[in-house]
Amino acid sequence: MVKKQISLIAIDGPAASGKSTVGRLLAEKLHFLYLDTGCMYRAITWAALQRGIDVADETAVTQLARNIQIDIYPARGEADGRHYTVHVDGQDITWGLRTPAVDANVSQVSSYLGVRREMVKRQRAFGQRGAVVMVGRDIGTVVMPEAPLKLYITASSAERARRRTHDRQAQGHTADYGDILADVQRRDEIDSNREHSPLRPAADAILIDSTDRSPVEIVDAIFQMLKEPVNGNR
Ligand code: C5P
Repeated sequence: MVKKQISLIAIDGPAASGKSTVGRLLAEKLHFLYLDTGCMYRAITWAALQRGIDVADETAVTQLARNIQIDIYPARGEADGRHYTVHVDGQDITWGLRTPAVDANVSQVSSYLGVRREMVKRQRAFGQRGAVVMVGRDIGTVVMPEAPLKLYITASSAERARRRTHDRQAQGHTADYGDILADVQRRDEIDSNREHSPLRPAADAILIDSTDRSPVEIVDAIFQMLKEPVNGNR
């Protein structure tokens, strides 16, 4: 029985820190809705690449973000390891979001103010539904600063690259650890230093280092935290 009356949980952190797995497992355990906001920025990036829009063209990318329809559904037993399904204008692009080309361009796309404004509007509308776990880079600082529970999940960049390499290989792709480490570090650098909504923990976020802890261990610890009396020590 969860004692704290918490209906919004914000989880932020750098690339491949384990935040999405923790968020998804936590949402399942609490019977909350789950939104991985990274897939929205990835969807715009995918569409820009697909339509031949130059990702350096801020006006064109912003226009695309305003017009694009992004739908995210829970997985319905598809046998390809997906946790949710993403449609762009009705087309299933779930796996297209995870390509190296999207990895390489998404941080530029997400640095544009107009793109962020449009996505944050949609994310807040989702948050209004309540009983939501939302995961990203700016959820605790910008999207849902009112969330009563904010977590910031990190891990060493070497461990994050190791996990991402393992995931890619498990999905049947070739993956080079060195390339992935470079991509993770490059995205951290851009995401942390951008002008609008940089990656950083909210002042009242609980910091969790996942380097030596499994997602299940972390979820159990958070669940225990939620069971503590409201005024109890975390
Ligand atoms: O979480 P994920 O790695 O899928 O996010 C992809 C990219 O989307 C990040 O590197 C970041 O540039 C952007 N992003 C963001 N704000 C969020 C979520 C993701 O800027 N709330």
